[in-house]
Amino acid sequence: MKQIIREIIKFCLLVTLGVWFYQMSTELVSAKTPEVSAIRIGHDKGSTRFVLDIDQNIKFNVFTLANPNRIVIDITEVAWKNNFGGAKGKGFIDRYRFGLFKPGTSRIVLDVKNPVIVNKAFVISPKRGKPFRFVVDLKKVSKKAFDNRVKKPIPRLPKRKAATRPDKDLRSNRKKKLIVLDPGHGGHDPGNLGGKGYRGFPEKTVVLSAAKTIKRELERTGRYQVIMTRDRDIFLKHRNRSGIAHNKQADLFISIHADSIKNPKVRGATVYTLSEKASDKEAAALAARENKSDIIAGMDLEEEIYIVQSILIDLVKRETMNLSSNFANELVPQLERVVLLRTRPHRTANLLVLKGLDVPSVLVEIGYLTNSKDAKLMMQKETQQNIGKSIVRAADNFFNKAYVTN
Ligand SMILES: [Zn+2]
Repeated sequence: MKQIIREIIKFCLLVTLGVWFYQMSTELVSAKTPEVSAIRIGHDKGSTRFVLDIDQNIKFNVFTLANPNRIVIDITEVAWKNNFGGAKGKGFIDRYRFGLFKPGTSRIVLDVKNPVIVNKAFVISPKRGKPFRFVVDLKKVSKKAFDNRVKKPIPRLPKRKAATRPDKDLRSNRKKKLIVLDPGHGGHDPGNLGGKGYRGFPEKTVVLSAAKTIKRELERTGRYQVIMTRDRDIFLKHRNRSGIAHNKQADLFISIHADSIKNPKVRGATVYTLSEKASDKEAAALAARENKSDIIAGMDLEEEIYIVQSILIDLVKRETMNLSSNFANELVPQLERVVLLRTRPHRTANLLVLKGLDVPSVLVEIGYLTNSKDAKLMMQKETQQNIGKSIVRAADNFFNKAYVTN
């Protein structure tokens, strides 16, 4: 009898386990990231319709931003069949961008020409061979109606932690120097897109590829530990990029970008360090372009106030700024050995990503996407490795000379 009961219990346990495994596996299947197979825009009778074809249902949240006028659409994280992240619109939509905003959320930003609001947003279930369709209908409204719909800024000052050092002294306890590499842009912010007729990769892809190679070159020496602010196509706010370097008490922060300019003949790399005043007109224009990234993201006022505050913090960061210049002065001659440099290769600009950071930091524009030769070279492994090696030599010199910190 006991034997039979034991067998029955065993059988029940096995069945339970079987059911559990089955549920797990079906859950895993359904947890697959939805894929967007097409984006379509139609315009008819004073209404513009923006449609995504998706293989699964998604959740969404829509809001409107002014200056410049934008419609921001946050949806469940999706995979994009074409991930170039920027395209021309139609009707009320001037241009649109899309990409990963943060884990779990993808973002689409529609730049709109007129005061336009979202009239309706909904998902249509699959019908007659058609997949799920996410539909956003835009309609033109008066300036007043638009202003009423615009996301209201937060009127209070944000609580912000003082920029104090973490308790532990991470720097002196480390065997290797820690370098934070920051590939610019990502997600729905493609960065520079290259010149007229350019069919190559957007800045976000070029700089991620270059940063991955530079990381390997630094780590190969055994002297450096490298953290990347992003290692995939995802959006990051400026302060989250520098925040990684601050929290980890990095020894160096290097932001990697690729430039663009009207004249397609202009080539070469430039090293930028932070300054309240831009070194020249071009540097000021560059800062305006690079700083735009957070505005593209649809940042709220809370963030903007943070930036104003960090300008004040910068005044006490004179030492860090001097160290940053020291590193730039080491980097320029090393880069010169491997890539073409712009005239006056060390420039200064008011760059948000370097602001308020208590770690020596530079922003390197490794070349011009608007120049076909530069655009090609920047995606080449050999060029990327050479840039990596020049950064290694510059870092070696910088740390060996023990420029005074603290
Ligand atoms: Zn950039």
